[in-house]
Amino acid sequence: MRYRFLRFPEGKVKAITFSYDDGVRDDLVLADIINKYGIKCTFNHTNTEHMTKDEVIENIISKGHEIAVHGAEHRAEGLQRPVEAIEDVLSCRKKLESEFDMIIRGMAYPDSGIRNLLPGVTYENIKSYLKNLDIVYARTLGGDNNLFRLPEDWYAWTPTAHHANPELGNYIDDFLNIDVSKLYIAGRFPRLFYLWGHSYEFERNNNWELLEDICSKLSGKDDIWYATNMEIYEYVNAYNSLIYSADGLRIYNPTLYTVWFETDGTLYSVKSGETICLKNN
Ligand SMILES: [Zn+2]
Repeated sequence: MRYRFLRFPEGKVKAITFSYDDGVRDDLVLADIINKYGIKCTFNHTNTEHMTKDEVIENIISKGHEIAVHGAEHRAEGLQRPVEAIEDVLSCRKKLESEFDMIIRGMAYPDSGIRNLLPGVTYENIKSYLKNLDIVYARTLGGDNNLFRLPEDWYAWTPTAHHANPELGNYIDDFLNIDVSKLYIAGRFPRLFYLWGHSYEFERNNNWELLEDICSKLSGKDDIWYATNMEIYEYVNAYNSLIYSADGLRIYNPTLYTVWFETDGTLYSVKSGETICLKNN
């Protein structure tokens, strides 16, 4: 069996996504800046409103960014009884869906999230009720994901780094310098750079130029797909939904996406509804 690696849309090897929390007014400034650079962000909202509906639609949603759940009252899942946490997630999801007239299934854990668990609270149970609430991914924190891996567990999606991480400059260089075609074949998996933070930190520290600097380094690359958290989830999910013959040479795409992959150094795409056959060489 030959190795087969996911490639992002148009065959791109790398993707970049941002995640900014709490739905504060400084998000409008952040959105303005990242829009200039073509970078996409997921904005995680609580039920506390800091912007009007029209401001969010005009400056964030219509620019291709994602709105996601961050808990109605910003309370850690690990520090609540399940019934309380379920209420917190569900009421946030329902509020955002009715306010913005859309389906919302993404989430970032608020506060300490799943990093501290009360006695009797388990991660497996949190994951189970989030699935029942139709949440399909949840961003967690703790440690740097500087191998740029896609998540193995979508309910414990660990970002690359916070924007103030002292290693960030090195991580950006490492990420941009990866050339998978020069790597040993088993290492040619796709790479994701995932930045997180709060827009109010730039305002508070008077360092918006840090964001400009990060964006100017990351933007405008032909081999990078700039996407929201949900776009990445949905694309990877489509890739994982491909159907194969036993020998792996016949591949059917039952999804609505054109799906890309690379095998033996050759790039393939399978359109929605299409079946392709790879040569047996
Ligand atoms: Zn938060």
